[in-house]
Amino acid sequence: MSSHAAHHNWERTLEKTWDSLQERDGRLVVDTIAKDAQFFAGSQAGNAKRRFLLRRVVILVDNSSEVVEERDLRPNRLVVFGKHLIIFLNRFFASNPTSEIAIIGASDQTGVLISPMTSSIVTHRENIAAKFTAAGKFSIQNAVEAAVRVLDDAPPHSTREIISLISSRYTIDPDPLSQLYPMLRAKEIVVSCIMVGCDVYAFRQLCDNSGSRGQTKGDMHVIRTVEELDSVLAYHCVPKAAPEDQRSTLIRMGFPVRTVGTIMRCTCHKEYRQSMYNCPRCSAPYCDIPTTCSVCRLQLVSATHIARTAAHLRPVPEVKRVVLNERCLACKEKLPTEREMVQCTACGVALCLDCARVIQDDFRSCIGCQLKSTGATIPTVLATGVTKLTNTTTVATKTVLGGSRQVPMKRARKTVIGKKDAKRPSADLF
Ligand SMILES: [Zn+2]
Ligand SMILES: [Zn+2]
Ligand SMILES: [Zn+2]
Ligand SMILES: [Zn+2]
Repeated sequence: MSSHAAHHNWERTLEKTWDSLQERDGRLVVDTIAKDAQFFAGSQAGNAKRRFLLRRVVILVDNSSEVVEERDLRPNRLVVFGKHLIIFLNRFFASNPTSEIAIIGASDQTGVLISPMTSSIVTHRENIAAKFTAAGKFSIQNAVEAAVRVLDDAPPHSTREIISLISSRYTIDPDPLSQLYPMLRAKEIVVSCIMVGCDVYAFRQLCDNSGSRGQTKGDMHVIRTVEELDSVLAYHCVPKAAPEDQRSTLIRMGFPVRTVGTIMRCTCHKEYRQSMYNCPRCSAPYCDIPTTCSVCRLQLVSATHIARTAAHLRPVPEVKRVVLNERCLACKEKLPTEREMVQCTACGVALCLDCARVIQDDFRSCIGCQLKSTGATIPTVLATGVTKLTNTTTVATKTVLGGSRQVPMKRARKTVIGKKDAKRPSADLF
């Protein structure tokens, strides 16, 4: 877990934001390098060449009455769980569009299906808003058994994962939890637990004794703040690495064409709409993709979804936050004062935070490294803090779907566009 937020909320003292101000060249600047949080979740997750990309995940949320009583996460844990679950779903489906999620609420010593197994973020959002209420006590055995019943329909080539968000410190079960282990191993279901504030031995044992595909085990996380909850949920957006000897499976997928103008009733919501995607095998109309055809079980996707899923296999270069006064390589913006930027450790280019986020979330690759691989010369921040253009041609990048295209724009007049400043923090980067 990250150490920067290792206190309970009630243990925190007054947050002195002025402590992060530092004086440089007679000006006050915010020293954000000191609180260098995990900026790119993907770059921290390792660069495995094989991953389980088609995932079926059940989010098991502890909706016992304890989540409303505890006030350590404000206003209460129920509201925080609901809000951050939606943030997680947005992030998950952006990077795993061919995977599906179901949500189960554990309340009244049972597991209640809040949202069915689907890749539709709209359906999940509506169901969370309508059915997210707390009641009764927590029973992990009954909740996991309800999740297993949902995962029984998962195709054999996909992973079966249960991510439990647990607030209770105890569980009321009809049988010992150890009776679940053989069933979880036989069905290759990986159980991970995210606990708020404490570590329960029985839940940790459940994680350790679940899953068997490639010896993959579940993870046990203990979170104490909202930032840690966000960080752990971001970790679960990245598919687990698969062993080298894992057998590959060929899967049939359909690429439906969108038809506009004819009013049809969609198979998924039974609603009349003007634009539809027709299944290429059975012609069943669907209002949105990705989805699985409910008539012929063909997975309906677009080429963009495949590209976004496969992006997990491309190594993401590590980046670090720096304070610089350089021109952003992507948007060419340069502010008159020093600001926080992101620098790629592989190619050395600096990007503004907005561009870095877009490039990371949408393309999962470094724009500087891509330009370098095409043989283009790029401006790099040198050890002395001087920015030089070693070639007189600047290169602008026009972003297109599925990749980037380099367009020569103009001749640079000066070879040096930055001034030497020995006091800059970039001096110790290389
Ligand atoms: Zn529909
Ligand atoms: Zn079909
Ligand atoms: Zn930029
Ligand atoms: Zn790079």
